[in-house]
Amino acid sequence: MKPSAFDYVRPSSVDEAIAHLEQFGDRAKVIAGGQTLMATLNMRLSAPELLVDIGRIPGLSGIEVRGSLVSIGALTTHREIERSALLARHVPLLTQAAPHIAHAAIRNSGTIGGSIAFADPAAEWPACCLALDAVIVIRGAGGERRVPARNYFHNLYETDLSATEIITAIECPITPPARRSVFLELARRQGDYAIVGLALLARIDADKLHEVALAFVGAGPTPMLATTAMTALEGRTPDAETLHAAREALTRDLDPGPDLYTSAATKRHLAGVLLGRAIAQLMSGGDQTHGTA
Ligand SMILES: Cc1cc2nc3c(=O)[nH]c(=O)nc-3n(C[C@H](O)[C@H](O)[C@H](O)COP(=O)(O)OP(=O)(O)OC[C@H]3O[C@@H](n4cnc5c(N)ncnc54)[C@H](O)[C@@H]3O)c2cc1C
Repeated sequence: MKPSAFDYVRPSSVDEAIAHLEQFGDRAKVIAGGQTLMATLNMRLSAPELLVDIGRIPGLSGIEVRGSLVSIGALTTHREIERSALLARHVPLLTQAAPHIAHAAIRNSGTIGGSIAFADPAAEWPACCLALDAVIVIRGAGGERRVPARNYFHNLYETDLSATEIITAIECPITPPARRSVFLELARRQGDYAIVGLALLARIDADKLHEVALAFVGAGPTPMLATTAMTALEGRTPDAETLHAAREALTRDLDPGPDLYTSAATKRHLAGVLLGRAIAQLMSGGDQTHGTA
């Protein structure tokens, strides 16, 4: 199918882009990497009158350390994140998660801002942002606002972002070296969207877990922060009893829906499997592995 007819503008500044969005409201759509939007246009799931192409606005791309955080411009591609030595050192969860996103061709064009704006609960960056307690930087006609990721995702594809606003950056706290991270997911094939995925951070002190953060991919209408399981693990040695309690807690934290291939019950089970694997990996050093279901 071909998309409905639309007009196209390529503004050269964020203010100019916002002016277009203000004029058209929800009859306009921002386009960044186009890796999600082009498909929805072609299938006529979306039929905007105007496309506002932010892809060449200067200053919206790049990765830099600012004090205790790393700022990632909204137009930074998945591939740039995957290959960033700066992120591998300061926010390793992101370089661990990046290879799980689709295929190289999509990672070359797709952007972190587009992924956070679209807010697919099966996408990797939204869950990473929750686990990291990142901040989404948003600009609109009224100026700039900073929204903690933990307040940003409201419901399925519903976020704090309005139709007249643009995400300009994602700010991630630097992960201290003592706090390890692991990203794991189960997918039917390498490059597919995850059935379930998990972003885990924790500091280990005398075999006990501290500052635990667990965020799941594909386990609810939004990326899901597993707060009850986090509490069950906090300050404890992850022995069989503690892990059992944390898996039990996941039944309260997660709300997966079935998809074409996987029932909700299977997703819940797989979330528990991932939790056990991720903790084991964390205790043995915190590195990345890839899994297929
Ligand atoms: C075959 C295939 C497999 C994929 N697999 C995965 C996967 O496994 N994991 C995964 O996470 N993703 C996957 N994706 C999606 C891909 O990562 C997209 O790149 C990403 O979701 C959107 O980024 P984009 O820059 O392409 O955004 P676009 O497609 O340009 O836009 C997506 C949406 O975000 C809005 N938007 C974009 N940028 C901004 C901004 N800065 N401010 C406000 N609104 C904005 C647009 O209006 C649109 O609604 C896959 C895509 C394809 C085609």
